[in-house]
Amino acid sequence: MTIPHTILDRLTDVEMPRLPAEPHFQEQIKVADTIIPVHQSGAVVVGSGAAGLRAAVELHRRDGNVTILSQSAWGGTSACSGSDKQTLHTANSSDQGDDFKEMAKAIRAGGAMDEDTAYIEAVGSVRSMASLQFLGLPLPQDQLGGTLRYQTDHDEIGRATSCGPRTSRLMVKVLAQEAIRLGIPFFNQTICVRILFEEKDGEQVVAGLLAVRPKAQSKDNPFGFVIFQSSSIILAAGGPGELYRDSVFPNGCFGSLGLALQAGVELVNLTESQFGIGTRREGFPWNLSGTYVQVMPHIYSLDDEDNEHHFLADYYRSTQEMVSNIFRKGYQWPFHATRMADFQSSLVDLAVFCENQKGRRVFMDFNRNPLPVPGDLPFSLERLDEDVSLYLTHAKADQALPIDRLRHMNPLAIELYRRYKVDIAKDPLEFAVNNQHMNGGIAVDIWGQSNCVGLYAVGEAAGTHGVTRPGGSALNAGQVFGTRAAEHISGHGMAIKPQHLIDPNCIKDALLSLEAILKADSPLHYSDIRKDVQARMSDRAGILCTAKEVHDARIEAKELNARISTHGIAYDRISEAGRVLQWHQMALVSEAVLAALDHYISHGGGSRGARAICDPAGEITPMARSGPLTDYCFVVEKDEDRKKQILVHLQDDAFLVSERENRSFDEGKRSFFERDWPAWLTGSIYQPSSDL
Ligand SMILES: Cc1cc2nc3c(=O)[nH]c(=O)nc-3n(C[C@H](O)[C@H](O)[C@H](O)COP(=O)(O)OP(=O)(O)OC[C@H]3O[C@@H](n4cnc5c(N)ncnc54)[C@H](O)[C@@H]3O)c2cc1C
Repeated sequence: MTIPHTILDRLTDVEMPRLPAEPHFQEQIKVADTIIPVHQSGAVVVGSGAAGLRAAVELHRRDGNVTILSQSAWGGTSACSGSDKQTLHTANSSDQGDDFKEMAKAIRAGGAMDEDTAYIEAVGSVRSMASLQFLGLPLPQDQLGGTLRYQTDHDEIGRATSCGPRTSRLMVKVLAQEAIRLGIPFFNQTICVRILFEEKDGEQVVAGLLAVRPKAQSKDNPFGFVIFQSSSIILAAGGPGELYRDSVFPNGCFGSLGLALQAGVELVNLTESQFGIGTRREGFPWNLSGTYVQVMPHIYSLDDEDNEHHFLADYYRSTQEMVSNIFRKGYQWPFHATRMADFQSSLVDLAVFCENQKGRRVFMDFNRNPLPVPGDLPFSLERLDEDVSLYLTHAKADQALPIDRLRHMNPLAIELYRRYKVDIAKDPLEFAVNNQHMNGGIAVDIWGQSNCVGLYAVGEAAGTHGVTRPGGSALNAGQVFGTRAAEHISGHGMAIKPQHLIDPNCIKDALLSLEAILKADSPLHYSDIRKDVQARMSDRAGILCTAKEVHDARIEAKELNARISTHGIAYDRISEAGRVLQWHQMALVSEAVLAALDHYISHGGGSRGARAICDPAGEITPMARSGPLTDYCFVVEKDEDRKKQILVHLQDDAFLVSERENRSFDEGKRSFFERDWPAWLTGSIYQPSSDL
């Protein structure tokens, strides 16, 4: 069936709504010589991605007084990222339904994940998806109302669904329309740079945020500081995409992990990330998963003299094995250390990575079928592994060339690149192995609250995923925990506008510490920090690590932070203040990740998820057609490491690392309506002591 262009356009070229006029700052406060505008609200959401908008809408609907602030209204990964079929992972609502306990087991199958969190995501997924559909998210259905499903990464059942390449942008769109309809105040071009605390009953509690807004710059406030006074904060600022040089994150994703570290908040599972093949952010950052690889394009590299290398043929033993593993990258997209063994699909990532290390550029050509492995039969749709052949038969993808199979299976995938002036129907597509997602983040409880009362984290800011996650579960987790954080805040009556103006003493120290970093005459420019941090993370904490490299990298990261503390950071224009402070945060996050990784490896931690821990004494040596790949011999994961999580927090300039067991979930326990109803009616389900 030919799909009309108007339909393709609607799903690829998603226009965002126009923001309403910003409210005025009602108050101001003088701290030393700086006069700072103040906005008061019951709760502040930092970030306008899918997770933040969900939290804001849910809170407003519960009569919460909530404000959204965002670095860039339609920036971040939700609005700007995707893949061939960008995935939302929810309970399977087609065919025979689902089993939440089984779904929870699948979500946490990679280990180092709280069991209660996995169940919450499973059971909450139905509501998150249905409410998005109610708001107008065009998820595809069959004639009887079942949602169309497919299988994706770490997903044996087929719990994935998608609106096409831009599912998350469409999620942002429908949620933003709702936030605008509800009249939620929205401050754009506003970068949150410090969390403020005040003392209450002898304890430090959340008092609001200090942010930087170029629009607020004045003679009395040269950096453009503004204050959002509030007793509840929801951090929904996404992942730390700027941490790596080789990245498929959109530009300018800094997240809020540095902000949380500066506030002494606990982070978790920072060792866990996702890396995989895609086109980098220097061009159009996009994941090459799903149909892009399931159509089996020819993959080759070019050296300095433009000589072509059929490098995958050095790794796989037969044409059939090679092409079947290219296909499997479709739903085994993230690099996984153990899948380098036994000629599985992560050997593709390793091979691409090694070509790049040699200085060669790697391409996919959709106009050529893969060349044969020397000495073997040519590519044929008749000679594929059974799973591959079955899928392509079901999809009726028997066309002669990859581009024709792609046009048949997913024409949106071609359209999408065309929008960014890349015609994959004509030209080969350059790609690489990139950092794509931070599985760890701010440690949160079952309501999304951090170890700091009043401070919540949702979406990629939260460290709710384990070592692996099913594709699409990031978007689901953001929706589920966005809703739960809102429920918890409103259940505690915390979303009420403050009655008094914030005490200037709460701001003084924060302001001094920021001014100590913003030093126009420092020998250290923020662009140097960027180069230093990104090169260290990509070269020494990417898919292949060694104990020594990680340890040395940690020491270098610590030295960089010491230099920043001594000299501050230079910039060219005062309007760059927000960026400078974000690069400081990024330097802290980099040290935190390396501290966690160093701790993990030095305690015998092995290869899991995104990273292979290489060591000549390791148990597994990946094999290639050309022989054993001894340089990539790796240590295997210890079983006991799957049962716990690594925590990191910053105290007096030192990163303190500890461990805790995964929270458990009693699978045998069942709710009983009359017994449990009062806890819901009285709101005691929101109390920390609430018995699950
Ligand atoms: C190429 C790619 C493909 C992906 N595909 C999938 C997929 O198929 N399925 C899936 O589940 N996940 C996928 N992910 C991951 C998923 O897209 C993200 O985890 C998710 O969109 C994050 O949503 P979020 O709302 O937490 O953050 P974001 O959407 O990143 O939003 C963050 C918001 O915070 C703002 N912000 C940041 N810092 C500050 C600050 N200091 N002050 C104020 N505002 C700030 C930003 O401007 C932005 O509005 C993919 C990611 C990438 C990069």
